[in-house]
Amino acid sequence: MKNLNLVALPHFVSVENLKNDEVEALIERAEYFKKGGAIPGLTRPVYVTNMFFEDSSRTHTSFEMAERKLGLTVIPFDPAHSSVNKGETLYDTSLVMNALGVDLEVIRHSQNEYYEDLINLKEHQKLNIGVINAGDGLGQHPSQCMLDMMTIHEHFDHFKGLKVAIVGDITNSRVAKSDMELLTRLGAEVYFSGPEYWYSKDFDQYGKYEELDKLIPKMDVMMLLRVQHERHSGDPNEKKFDAHSYHEKYGINHKRYEAMKKDAIIMHPGPINHNVELSGDLVESDKCMFVRQMENGVFMRMAMLEAVLRGRKLGGLE
Ligand code: ASP
Repeated sequence: MKNLNLVALPHFVSVENLKNDEVEALIERAEYFKKGGAIPGLTRPVYVTNMFFEDSSRTHTSFEMAERKLGLTVIPFDPAHSSVNKGETLYDTSLVMNALGVDLEVIRHSQNEYYEDLINLKEHQKLNIGVINAGDGLGQHPSQCMLDMMTIHEHFDHFKGLKVAIVGDITNSRVAKSDMELLTRLGAEVYFSGPEYWYSKDFDQYGKYEELDKLIPKMDVMMLLRVQHERHSGDPNEKKFDAHSYHEKYGINHKRYEAMKKDAIIMHPGPINHNVELSGDLVESDKCMFVRQMENGVFMRMAMLEAVLRGRKLGGLE
């Protein structure tokens, strides 16, 4: 990859508006951080708060680790004990943070595109805070997507022509939505598999649905998605769900692992349902990038946060 430009963005809410050279620059910057690179010390303090209204282990802690590595000051926020429970809106909560002096908020929320109200302001609205999307409902998961791109790039050194299968509960996965869009744009060939009832015709524009065992021997990347039980209320397929038969039909077991190409990899955004998407003892196998994805996540989130620091000229960065 050539031409390292430092990316500067006012917010980081989606991968849709990122240009391909910005994606490449962010990957390069994350690799720089991974090798021990740092940004010059911040000349002014920068305050950030992590507002997770949906559960999270890795994304929340990964952002906090990235923030601390960059030298940002993390202001705790606990949704369970916040005024959101008294009916305060996300916009008003952001106004509070802004008034108190918080510069950036990293938000995960169950509402698709919750960030629209925080970044597309009407003339009378004075909110001035950088928003980084840590997952919006069934919409996007830009930081997972970017760390996935970093992990693929680290292994293969390119995207063009790579064959990537996205497998599982695609309809309910925001990771899948972000990844299919960006992978296609970067020149990878996207395929889909998994239960047909969790596949939608809307995905046809990005790739082709095929039967799992036909895909396995030709794929470079098998991207497995968690079955999102918490999003299935009212879905008749949830009642019929059986972990054992899901694993038989759509999971990676030893036989399927052996059928993969020599250099192919398995990815999973986590959390994993063991012996559903993937046999438990394959999680730490050579092909499985689950741990690598989490390691890379910290460095990619540093790169994303840095882009917003620069975009908002915070901490003396431009
Ligand atoms: N951690 C990812 C997300 O928040 C994937 C998952 O939960 O299955 O979307």
